[in-house]
Amino acid sequence: MLSEEELIESLQSFADELGRRPTLHEMAQDGPHSSSVYKKYFGTWSTALHEAGFEPSRGKIIKEEDRRDYYSRDYSKNQKIYERDNHKCRVCDTEDSIEVHHIKSRLNIPHDEELDNEDNMITLCKKHHRILEGKWEDTSHERFEELAREYIENEDDATQKTIASF
Ligand SMILES: [Zn+2]
Repeated sequence: MLSEEELIESLQSFADELGRRPTLHEMAQDGPHSSSVYKKYFGTWSTALHEAGFEPSRGKIIKEEDRRDYYSRDYSKNQKIYERDNHKCRVCDTEDSIEVHHIKSRLNIPHDEELDNEDNMITLCKKHHRILEGKWEDTSHERFEELAREYIENEDDATQKTIASF
């Protein structure tokens, strides 16, 4: 069962991947959830975008003072993190489909400066990003890597055992 919060977080990390606000079409094509899920939960795509902190369409003003303009976010920070992490997932070392994960999610951080603190960012592959979203939000990127590797190893072991028992 999905929660609105999860849907918003997914929308925001999808926007992070793209480096901008996703369109409904992009969500339908490559997004973490189908676009119809967003329509079901939020009524319209614009409302979903609004809830995620994006200005839904030109001319509309977001009244809430704490809404951040994701257009203005500094995505060059992501490049620095990729470089620091050698363009590899810090859990499985793959170089495919890598993304920058914010350890403490934007929902729990009021200011972009903290969100884009390098210690709060880590390179993960798409798969591990999904699995590890929301975990160990108060850890450094070094500690996050340790915990994540342990976690994934245990998960792989459990999968192996399940397969072996058949
Ligand atoms: Zn990975």
